[in-house]
Amino acid sequence: MPRLPTTSAISTLALLGLFAASALVAAQSDKPNILIIFSDDHALRTISAYAGEDAVNQTPNIDRLAEEGAIFTRSFCGNSICQPSRAAILTGKHSHKNGVMTNGSAWNPNQQIFTRLLGDAGYQTAMIGKWHMHPFPSDEFDYHKTLTGMGGQGRYYNPEFVTFEGETVIEAGYSTDIITTESIEWMEGRDASKPFVMMCQFKSPHTNVMPPLRNLDMFNGKDIPVPESYHSDRSGRSKYLGHTWMQMSGMAAKDVLKTGPSAGSYDLPAGELNADRAKELGLPGFYSYMTPEQLAEWHAHYDPINEEYARRLAEGQVSKQERLEFPYQRYMKDYLRCVAAIDQNVGRLLEYLDASGLAENTIVIYSSDQGFFLGENGFTDKRLADDVTMSMPFLIRWPGVVAPGQRIDAMIQNIDYAPTFLDVAGVEVPADMDGKSLLPILSGETPDDWRASVYYHYYHNAAYNLPKIEAVRSDRYKLVRYYDHQTLKFGEDWELFDLEKDPTEQQSVYSNPEYASVLKQMKRELNKLRDQYEVVD
Ligand code: CA
Repeated sequence: MPRLPTTSAISTLALLGLFAASALVAAQSDKPNILIIFSDDHALRTISAYAGEDAVNQTPNIDRLAEEGAIFTRSFCGNSICQPSRAAILTGKHSHKNGVMTNGSAWNPNQQIFTRLLGDAGYQTAMIGKWHMHPFPSDEFDYHKTLTGMGGQGRYYNPEFVTFEGETVIEAGYSTDIITTESIEWMEGRDASKPFVMMCQFKSPHTNVMPPLRNLDMFNGKDIPVPESYHSDRSGRSKYLGHTWMQMSGMAAKDVLKTGPSAGSYDLPAGELNADRAKELGLPGFYSYMTPEQLAEWHAHYDPINEEYARRLAEGQVSKQERLEFPYQRYMKDYLRCVAAIDQNVGRLLEYLDASGLAENTIVIYSSDQGFFLGENGFTDKRLADDVTMSMPFLIRWPGVVAPGQRIDAMIQNIDYAPTFLDVAGVEVPADMDGKSLLPILSGETPDDWRASVYYHYYHNAAYNLPKIEAVRSDRYKLVRYYDHQTLKFGEDWELFDLEKDPTEQQSVYSNPEYASVLKQMKRELNKLRDQYEVVD
């Protein structure tokens, strides 16, 4: 059984030296270091600190940040897909202002970003892992090593990276482990006379949800509870949602559900990195880039499960309901095994901070670019303005500033990250950033005039047969506007939700006369935000 790498690779002597050095730095500068642990598509309900009694899995290391710091219960993105969320974090601006409105948009590398502003203020900055935007980073950070391949996602096994020097290299092992090891190595080797920003960015648990071999046995033989709305007919929702290609029960991709041919039934030399040949043969692409040893262990896990399901199917033992829920069970178990690997690696990072003496003066954040539908409304993927997908995890530990054990309900957004990091470093926040510094909230005082609503705008209407989506969410209500579909001629369509009475957003009350005044107020709020953020679309 392959084992999780440990910090034992880092010599005790080096740690002792680092401890002495970091104590000295702390004395020289009170500017805190910032470690951002960032994952991709991580749904709140798969973090036990969020899910509480309803938890389907346990994430003790991520939860440790909530116990020793704060967990934000209303943390949102402004555009629920990978690249726009990352651009909003770097710039502190909404999509229409930073230019990354869809996953196909070009990133303007010359615009104002917090890492360069912190660099000017004496910080050393690094990003390792998933970047996804194009072009690849250049001088956005003092150091970077960026996942490449698979549309910028990178592979789970033996991933390719573009190095700081611009070379493409393959690193042997499992993506989340490698990114963590490289992040620890960078922190260990950094210029210890400067404070640092380390952005450790996992590709996981993004589709195609490939867990590390050590986690394959987790959740075996168990059924994960299916969300109540999995079989919903969505009659309470916009008619556009009946036309999306986000239906989980229809998912059939072999590389996602791991239903590919069993060992010995195909002819592809393993470990030759020949994805084209795998495609020609109709095999999952990962068959071509796992090593023979990895693939053998992979097959040993999945083949018997696939054979058993095929046998039961052939003998008519699989009910219609089980068939519809099969993709959910398959996807969810692998997703949770990926999340477990993230949590194990968050543990390694926290252990490293403890052992190196950096923990005291380092802000640690766990977040993810957006949430993810795991069967809610029968959906997979993200994009919609539903709380499930609009939510980003946000847990923060900052000894001496953030009081431990807090649950904070103030509404925050990814545009707030950049102003916050600048503020904690004593750098003036540029007036053209859309976000607000969280420093007062982190210090225990939510300002009286803190935002009353958050703005959302999704523009990638070429994908998943969706229209564009604009929304405003207040403490209690959410107004959603669907418009500009590429082929469907429904025109503009609206939803209104009472989140107190209908927290899972099943029944729009847009046409309910009892909500006429709420509707009026929310339309006013939407227009106010459009003016404030100078929205033109
Ligand atoms: Ca994502």
